[in-house]
Amino acid sequence: MTFDRAIIRNLGVERMIETEEITRQPDYLSIIKNLYCPIDGCTARLIINRRSTGKPYLSKHKSYQHSETCFYFTNEEKLVQTATEYRVVNGGI
Ligand SMILES: [Zn+2]
Repeated sequence: MTFDRAIIRNLGVERMIETEEITRQPDYLSIIKNLYCPIDGCTARLIINRRSTGKPYLSKHKSYQHSETCFYFTNEEKLVQTATEYRVVNGGI
């Protein structure tokens, strides 16, 4: 999963930024420590990487998870959750 933009969240200030723009920022080194998933309410951290072509791209930090309401919350995680809910409902009958 890659992202074409991210939210910079720093000292309570949030700003949306395109991946391509990140590498052009003068405060690049501080920005890359504060990149988050662009979906409202999601707290997953993103990291910036570079393809062999030099083109930057964003991916999720492996220690973080997307919020359940996030668009990027993976289908796999959703399936697990749905299966659990189903069992709970059946158990109650
Ligand atoms: Zn997210």
